[in-house]
Amino acid sequence: MPTNVLITGAGSGMGQATALLLAGSGYRVFAGMRGSGEALMTEARGRGLDNIVPVRLDVQDTDSIRAAVARMMAEAGSIDVLVNNAGFGLLATVEDGTDDEIFRQFDVNVLGLIRMTREVLPHMREAGGGVIINISSFLGRMGLPLLAHYNASKYAVEGITDSLRLEVGPFGIRVHSILAGLFGTNFVRRGLVANPETTSDFSPYRALVAHLVPIVAKAINEGPSPEPIARAVKDIIENEDSDIAVMVGQEAEQFVPLRRSLDDKAFEARIIETFGLPPARAERGEGG
Ligand code: NAP
Repeated sequence: MPTNVLITGAGSGMGQATALLLAGSGYRVFAGMRGSGEALMTEARGRGLDNIVPVRLDVQDTDSIRAAVARMMAEAGSIDVLVNNAGFGLLATVEDGTDDEIFRQFDVNVLGLIRMTREVLPHMREAGGGVIINISSFLGRMGLPLLAHYNASKYAVEGITDSLRLEVGPFGIRVHSILAGLFGTNFVRRGLVANPETTSDFSPYRALVAHLVPIVAKAINEGPSPEPIARAVKDIIENEDSDIAVMVGQEAEQFVPLRRSLDDKAFEARIIETFGLPPARAERGEGG
C-alpha cells in the first residue's frame, strides 16, 4: 500500500478533508499549504493524528515546490501519491477578464499542477510507480457563463490527465481526475476572485450575474461536506482499477453522464433550462 502522500492546498476545503481522512487511515500526509495550516493542524491534534506534516507550498512558486519535494524525499524517502488539489475560481466575463486575472487563473489551476507533477514524476518513475490525482470539476466537462476562465482551466486539467496517463502509465504511474460537483468549502468565501466590471451595476451582463451567481454561491456555501472527495481520493489510491475520471457529487453525477448521452446542442439546451439561462438570440427568433 502506498504510504506517503503529498497534497496541495491542504489547509482548506477538499484538501483538508483529504489530509485528515488519509492520515486517519494510516497514510503519512505532507500537507502543502501557503499559510500556517492552523485549522488543519488543530483538527489533526484533536483527532490524535501525528502523521500530518505541514509543508510550505505555493504552486505558483517553483522554488517552493522544489523545496517541498526535496524535504518530503529527505524525510519520507518517497512520494507515493500526489493530490493536485490547489485551485480557485475567477468570476469574469470573457470581455472583462484582465491579463493578470487570466494569467493567475491558469497559473494556479493549470501551470501549478504541471509544475508540481513535473517535480514529483522523476521520483515516482525511479520508484517504479505512483498515483497522481487531479482535483478537477464537472466544469471540466461542461461550460457555464461567467466562468469561462475557470472552465478552461479545468478542461485543461482533463486534457493533462488524459495525456499524462499515456505518457507515464508504462512506468507504473496511474493518473486520475476527480470530477467534483459543488461542495461546501472556502471556494467562494475565500477563494473566489470577482472581476469588478463583471459585477458592477453597469455591466451589460448584470441580469445574468444577478441570476446565476447566487445560485452557484449558495450551492457551494451551503453545500455538502467535501468528505466524499476525500473518500474518492482514498478509493483511487487503493483500487488500481479505478475509473480514469471519477465523478463525485450531485452536479457531476447529473451532468457528466448527460453530456455523454446527448448531442452538444441538446446538452446545451438542457443546461439553459436547468440553470434558467437566457437563450441565444437566434433561438428566440430575434437574430438577424
Ligand atoms: P478552498 O476551500 O478555497 O481550497 C482551495 C485551496 O487551494 C486552499 O487551501 C488554497 O490555499 C489553495 N490554493 C490557492 N492558490 C494556491 C497557490 N497558489 N498555491 C497553493 N495553494 C493554493 O476550495 P476547495 O473547494 O476545497 O477547492 C479545492 C479544489 O476543488 C480546487 O481545485 C477547485 O477548483 C476544486 N473544485 C471545487 C468545487 C467546490 O464546489 N468547492 C467544485 C469543483 C471543483 P489558501 O488557503 O492559502 O488560499
